[in-house]
Amino acid sequence: MFHSQAARATRATRAAALMLAAACVALAVLAPVAARAAAPLAKAQAPGYYRMMLGGFEVTALNDGSFDLPVDKLLKQAPETTDAELADYYQKPPVETSINAFLINTGARLVLIDTGTGGLSGPTAGTLLANLRAAGYQPEQVDDVLVTHMHGDHVGGLAHDGAAVFPNATVHAGKGDVDYYLNADKMAAAPDAAKGGFRMAMNSMAPYVTARHFQPIGADGEVVPGIRSWATPGHTPGHTSYVVESQGQKLIVTGDLIHVAAVQFDHPGVTISFDSDGDNARASRARVFRQAADDGTLIAAAHLQFPGIGRIKANGDGWRFVPVVYSRMH
Ligand SMILES: [Zn+2]
Repeated sequence: MFHSQAARATRATRAAALMLAAACVALAVLAPVAARAAAPLAKAQAPGYYRMMLGGFEVTALNDGSFDLPVDKLLKQAPETTDAELADYYQKPPVETSINAFLINTGARLVLIDTGTGGLSGPTAGTLLANLRAAGYQPEQVDDVLVTHMHGDHVGGLAHDGAAVFPNATVHAGKGDVDYYLNADKMAAAPDAAKGGFRMAMNSMAPYVTARHFQPIGADGEVVPGIRSWATPGHTPGHTSYVVESQGQKLIVTGDLIHVAAVQFDHPGVTISFDSDGDNARASRARVFRQAADDGTLIAAAHLQFPGIGRIKANGDGWRFVPVVYSRMH
């Protein structure tokens, strides 16, 4: 019995080898013919979503595109210093900067953290909805939107032509930003150049406030089961990070605690002119990064290169970012 099986196997191997040899001959004949075709360039990036599991939760990073930041002018240090530090990473200003949002499917709720620009920052961004759909979801399925802060590249995607883009979602945002950006007196007192930011925040929130689908976050705590808020003020008065936890695995969604990876990991004391309070922004960054480094927690950041997810290691006076690997899902 064994012998005849072995003989059959040998015959099969020989047959396979013969077929392979025949295929090689055919390829050798066909190859020069196939090379003459000239395909048009695709000229488009792949759909911008990246998926991973966090315990029992499914995390999908969604890319809203990018913008080019003149970081030599924006960072609070000498432009020549910034230029030299960027050069170390083969970069120069303006730095193409990702805009990332994060969709968490807890199995019970679909939670979107930040919403991208909604196209308000020009044609290089505004792809979040297309990528959400490409990732297999519809905006109507989103149960909660958690806002890290009320800048246009984070809340611009909430509304379109005065209507809620996520009509079934409740929006949650830090009370510090609610009290600042949704306040007509603060807007009146702000310089003219800053008034547009207030208007944009008010317009983005309006349909949710009207529909009573809006909940300010007054103190650190659970916002939805498995996701806690963590006040990390400085970039804005109510800037909020979110700690996502499932089956002992943890991810901190850090919003705008960092903008320029090539400078601010090595030199975390450097702040950016977008920060409303640089000292607080620096302190919040230090607090979150130290905890993430101490226990190996994943972070997910809005402006690190897409998908913006990885871990942090202490590195001299600063940090080293270790991005997640690309991984199959099964
Ligand atoms: Zn931002």
